[in-house]
Amino acid sequence: MDGEFVSTPRLFDNVNPADGSRIGLVSEADQGLVDRAVQAARTALGGPWGDLSASDRANCLRRIADQIDRRFDEFVDVEIADTGKPRAQARSLDIPRGAANFRIFADLLQSRAGEVFETVTQDGTRAINYSVQKPLGVVAIISPWNLPLLLTTWKLAPALACGNAVVVKPSEETPSSTTLLAEVARDAGVPDGVFNVVHGYGPGSAGEFLTTHPAVDAITFTGESRTGSAIMKAAADTVKEISFELGGKNAAVVFPDADFQRAVEGVARSTFTNCGQVCLCSERVYVHRSLFDEFVHALKLKAEALTIGAPDEKNVDMGPLISRQHREKVLAYYRLAGEEGGDVVTGGGVPEFGDVRNNGWFIEPTIVTGLAETSRCQREEVFGPFCNVSAFDDEEEVVAMVNDSDYGLACSLWTDNLQRAHRVAPGIQAGLVWVNTWFLRDLRTPFGGVKRSGIGREGGRHSLDFYSDVSNICIRL
Ligand code: NAD
Repeated sequence: MDGEFVSTPRLFDNVNPADGSRIGLVSEADQGLVDRAVQAARTALGGPWGDLSASDRANCLRRIADQIDRRFDEFVDVEIADTGKPRAQARSLDIPRGAANFRIFADLLQSRAGEVFETVTQDGTRAINYSVQKPLGVVAIISPWNLPLLLTTWKLAPALACGNAVVVKPSEETPSSTTLLAEVARDAGVPDGVFNVVHGYGPGSAGEFLTTHPAVDAITFTGESRTGSAIMKAAADTVKEISFELGGKNAAVVFPDADFQRAVEGVARSTFTNCGQVCLCSERVYVHRSLFDEFVHALKLKAEALTIGAPDEKNVDMGPLISRQHREKVLAYYRLAGEEGGDVVTGGGVPEFGDVRNNGWFIEPTIVTGLAETSRCQREEVFGPFCNVSAFDDEEEVVAMVNDSDYGLACSLWTDNLQRAHRVAPGIQAGLVWVNTWFLRDLRTPFGGVKRSGIGREGGRHSLDFYSDVSNICIRL
């Protein structure tokens, strides 16, 4: 906060999900501390940060990226301690994307253009209009636990690029990498007060204090749709700008003309990556009836071949869920799937290790068939390594099934038929459609969801647009 670490009397545990051990104690920010953070951010806007040129800010972002690279192993260590995810994944995805987020927005900022219009007035003279982009002000960043550094920096980098000052509240489950990032930002020359971090929970804690704060100008949030709804209400009183990336109930569709092996591998990846805890994961898999039995069998073999274990185990594919509470929720859906008439093809329970991992929150990858489209398990986000596989007969039918959802984040289509891919993709009600791939990201492209999956888009110019206020200047010539 304002360039220094501040302790509070209220502490909460940070727990390692791979063995249930306590990693450390975290200071929970109270209302007074959140006020101080917001005030520090507001003051910093009027300091040297406010005077920096876009190019100076871009250079500052690049220095942050360089510092993340320099302290790469420390970031990996804290991220896997907080989440239990495989070390190989944190090294190849989470931490490199954290650094890449700063570099891409530094580049985009420097090539950003405004708008210019020449206007002919009624008396035949002319006027020129041009736009100038300004910071929004103090931005609250509230992030989830599944990809902590990746998702926080996805907001932080463009918010700083546009000249804002921020107060970040990482998830209470994963406080460490954002804390380390505060050190990195200071070492990279971000002025005091521009980047503040407060720790704590949502309701009645730092999250709520931040979203209801009258001096916060904008809220950018990634998390559950239900939380998004609570934050939207909180933001309404002072009409704050909001950007929401929310939950998903994503579909994968395997057409009869797909490359079978590639589709099996792709769906296994899109279902079980990060123990199913990616907002983009597929929980509804639709397979053409002609391939159905063969596909379910092949996916079952893939699930059963996954190595479940702690981050540093050899060849580990899947870590634990984030917490005991979350595992209880996912297991409740596993039970519900049976009660709703689903047949469990594989999984459904908790693995037995006979060692300290039994104290962690591991869970079996689970595949179900036979759930009705109206069942809760087919309509609600589970956020675990779970999918139901359904059969379909024709294209029109499957598009209707995919679109019959309250959510609309992502969808992947598996087909080698180019005509089909182009025909089907635009009709899918989702912000992201992948064909023959999943989670392949170009950071310049729009990212976000429709329906209950979010409001607005991140990525490329969409992020820069959200984190800026634009003014039109009209000059009569
Ligand atoms: P969550 O909504 O429980 O919590 C997210 C953050 O919001 C945390 O920091 C939490 O402390 C805070 N929070 C909770 N209640 C709040 C309140 N009333 N006011 C202010 N802050 C509050 O989500 P989670 O369990 O951490 O993350 C999982 C969810 O996030 C899933 O639904 C997943 O689909 C979604 N998600 C979406 C995307 C996306 O890009 N669309 C990406 C990752 C995760």
